[in-house]
Amino acid sequence: MKIAVLPGDGIGTEIVAEAVKVLDVLDLKFEMESALVGGAAYEAHGHPLPESTLKLAKESDAVLFGAVGDWKYDKLDRPLRPEQAILGLRKNLGLFANFRPAICYEQLVDASSLKPELIAGLDILIIRELTGDIYFGQPRGRRTAVDGHFPGAEEAFDTMRYSRPEVERIARVAFEAARKRSKRVTSVDKANVLETFQFWKDIVTEVGKEYPDVELDHMYVDNAAMQLVKAPKKFDVVVTGNMFGDILSDEAAMLTGSIGMLPSASLNSSNQGLYEPSHGSAPDIAGKGVANPLATILSAAMMLRFSLNQPEAADRIESAVKDVLASGLRTGDIWSEGTKRVGTREMGDAVVAAITKKTITG
Ligand code: NAD
Repeated sequence: MKIAVLPGDGIGTEIVAEAVKVLDVLDLKFEMESALVGGAAYEAHGHPLPESTLKLAKESDAVLFGAVGDWKYDKLDRPLRPEQAILGLRKNLGLFANFRPAICYEQLVDASSLKPELIAGLDILIIRELTGDIYFGQPRGRRTAVDGHFPGAEEAFDTMRYSRPEVERIARVAFEAARKRSKRVTSVDKANVLETFQFWKDIVTEVGKEYPDVELDHMYVDNAAMQLVKAPKKFDVVVTGNMFGDILSDEAAMLTGSIGMLPSASLNSSNQGLYEPSHGSAPDIAGKGVANPLATILSAAMMLRFSLNQPEAADRIESAVKDVLASGLRTGDIWSEGTKRVGTREMGDAVVAAITKKTITG
């Protein structure tokens, strides 16, 4: 088994180092090889996703990714910006299914901006289609308008599109995932306005007939955004397109208290995957040693479960994270009165210690 380790920019290097430390202590047989990506790769090779990094990612069973980006690259041409590396990896590895669990840990109930009774015990899974929709649809660009409200004016445009197989395969991923949970899927669309999402809804309904044991409902994206803060526990598996999923998964992230707690997995049809925290490179706190590494450590657990077939090792990491939170250690983003504030490295060390202790005591 081989893992490509791509720390990236900003806090990426700090948090990935902690996840690697945790993987090392598990003493599993796999090879890890690091490469530059994002702004760091642009500085060294003139491109955010150099050929050598892409080759490493392709020949690995899984990619452990930190984060990319910094405001200083905002003036670069779009294809050279650090964020293009993620899009390039998704496209080249065919990572069409993005899993973002939003779990509220018992110990962090007070870190959420919602009332504890709304959030306690929350465990939802957002499945976002990742390689289609308006983010990849062609044509796109700038031109002079020939019609619309201001003919002759400069305008920009993108294309929203989904093909039948794209919707069918993500729908199947969602129904299969629901079968392992509480057997409920909510498909989020904007079928009342967008043809693309009426098509989406029709196909999800069709695929749903193959899963009579799973309850399917449909919700417009504006209502879903509202229900997520009003009654989040009503959801179980949520499946949606690339753009709606981008927004809703960040909203769900905040329900749990901090974006620093949320892992993610992006998989292709052969279970090769890219695992990364749901947050970005946080340039505002980079280099200060205060970033929360738990989202990345939990992403490594998802990697062990989904791509490397090591579910027990994944359980050990997740249980160690719960133990560490129960012991009262908190990075600044989840700190509250009565808990102990620690830095990135101390948090990683505490997870390692919790795993080691369990190993020793059996
Ligand atoms: P961000 O997620 O980096 O940060 C948002 C806020 O959350 C900041 O205040 C940050 O300090 C905080 N935060 C994020 N992760 C944290 C952690 N682990 N611990 C504690 N606090 C944390 O989003 P942003 O500020 O909008 O973007 C910063 C850069 O990251 C941009 O260049 C953006 O394009 C890029 N970005 C990259 C990815 C990715 O690599 N997948 C995703 C989103 C944004």
